[in-house]
Amino acid sequence: MNVTLPDGNQLELADGATGADAAAAIGPGLARVALAVRQKGEIRDLARPLLEGETLEIITPKSDGALDIIRHDAAHVLAAAVMELYPGVKISIGPPIEHGFYYDFDFPEGVTVSDADFARIEQKMGEHINADESFVREEVTVAEALERFREEGQDYKVELIEDLVADQQVQTVSLYTNGPFTDLCRGPHAPGTKRIKAFKLQSVAGAYWRGDSARQQLTRIYGTAFFSKDDLKMRMKRLELARARDHRKLGPQLGLFAFNDTAAGAAFWLPKGTTIFNSLVALSREMGTAHGYTEVKTPQLFDAELWKTSGHWFKYRDHMFVTEAEGQPLALKPMNCPGHCQLFKMQKWSYRDLPARFSEPGLLHRNELSGTLHGLLRVRHFVQDDAHIFCAPEQTLDEVKGCLNMAFETYAHFGIVPDIELSTRPENRIGEDSVWDESEGILKQALDDRELSYVINEGDGAFYGPKIDLHFTDSLDRSWQLGTVQLDFNFPERFDLTYTGADNAEHRVVMLHRALFGSYERFIGILIEDTAGELPLWLAPVQVAVLPIADRHAPAGQQVIAALDAAGLRSELDDRTESIGRKIRDAELRKLPFMLVIGDREAETGTVSVREHRRGDTGSMPAEEFVERLSHRTALRGA
Ligand SMILES: [Zn+2]
Ligand SMILES: [Zn+2]
Repeated sequence: MNVTLPDGNQLELADGATGADAAAAIGPGLARVALAVRQKGEIRDLARPLLEGETLEIITPKSDGALDIIRHDAAHVLAAAVMELYPGVKISIGPPIEHGFYYDFDFPEGVTVSDADFARIEQKMGEHINADESFVREEVTVAEALERFREEGQDYKVELIEDLVADQQVQTVSLYTNGPFTDLCRGPHAPGTKRIKAFKLQSVAGAYWRGDSARQQLTRIYGTAFFSKDDLKMRMKRLELARARDHRKLGPQLGLFAFNDTAAGAAFWLPKGTTIFNSLVALSREMGTAHGYTEVKTPQLFDAELWKTSGHWFKYRDHMFVTEAEGQPLALKPMNCPGHCQLFKMQKWSYRDLPARFSEPGLLHRNELSGTLHGLLRVRHFVQDDAHIFCAPEQTLDEVKGCLNMAFETYAHFGIVPDIELSTRPENRIGEDSVWDESEGILKQALDDRELSYVINEGDGAFYGPKIDLHFTDSLDRSWQLGTVQLDFNFPERFDLTYTGADNAEHRVVMLHRALFGSYERFIGILIEDTAGELPLWLAPVQVAVLPIADRHAPAGQQVIAALDAAGLRSELDDRTESIGRKIRDAELRKLPFMLVIGDREAETGTVSVREHRRGDTGSMPAEEFVERLSHRTALRGA
């Protein structure tokens, strides 16, 4: 038989040859490190017969997707260890995920597992890994598999198999065995457990069977695995840094916001946090005005009819908070778009009035499962810096460019240079191919005209149109999606949105969705973690701490505060009876950008002695001069 290698060369092998045979035929070095093969886009076990005539890529630890393989291996090893240590435990599923893996268990009555048990479980896992158990795949009939798992009392596996039969009419399923442990699994796996060179269990969480809160609550154990101990160490170091910067810790610590069980998934904004929030909204408003947007306000609660028109009632209802009044179903908006479409439709539009650019710092509600909520990053209640543009087709290019300009101007205030992704038509979509050709062309042209570099995500667009996504890589190398510019062919059809053209006929409008921060909540969470709470000066809730050296200097300090207030700068007087050293240290800990020390000389001459966070003493100057300089800096909103 023949297979094609990535360099185009043919490799001749005996009939029925496996991936391991191919790797050995290429070279003994490759055979040693080979983990699996990729053929027809699918990663397959080394031990499986190759697909004749297809291109063959040997997967090694350096290949894309290699970590997923050993993390999946590690999930099986975890389940093997847990079954040995906790007789009677039921296993459900254990996939690799970003940065690691998990396995969900149903422990017998009265048994709880916490991180205190990790050392014991890890030791058992280590035994399985040191034994270098092979992963052996077998295809068995559904009846055989059902009998096996029923006998073992593994009800979750039985349910999974029954569903596979019902949904996909499968006749056989694959099992993987390593050592004493057998799991229902599609694979792929590495040849043996010893390919896992470093691993660690990380946390325990509750998880519902099949993500359904009406079903059994399971115990999820998370872990991670790597090809080297150094890689694991690096990951742990990064996690430690991230933990120190966790916005859920820093937010309350810096007096910005807090969470409370009385409102899961919604933040309580304290005065300082509210200042940050409002500063961002103010920036968005100013930018909007400069870029020709008009702000609108649309309702929170809409009749179900609107959601039926938009399609949310059928596709998104599980994520909406639904209520009723006088027997009529209503729902809180999870998005602003349908409201803006309705608003657009309430007026007649001529081509001369377009484009219409509606912006709204809209309060949204989405019903996320409580287990998925995460500080400000995943909430039920949030405000988006949302906007929708309704324009004539020939205006689309300029509008997309306008959105990009606004995005770059906005992000510059945070020192953010976004990575750009263009997502094109997915398999399931509405709209003619010619319309997709044109719209994708418009987005490309807008990016090319600005000479921006971008990655194309083939097939990753929304079903209703292509989009440009703007990502940000933070100081810990984590990528966050911030903004989006999306073309939409769906809503203009569903809401029948038109304008009267120069030809006096009715034409369909083009709709764009645009958000730059995403949600204010999430953006603030990301900013806090990126900067470890040291926000840019213009955004800092307290910009200046005024520190009188002794009580007798407090009146002079008060005068400086009054001057700062008058200039719209945010300051605090530290008039505690503490040493100046202590006051400086406390202000440093609170990460306040500026400290003004006032002693005898300053009080007499109307000057301030300036200390800047992280820079230390920067000399003294007249108080008015400091106020003027700082006003200038904050007005520019420099990063
Ligand atoms: Zn598996
Ligand atoms: Zn929208």
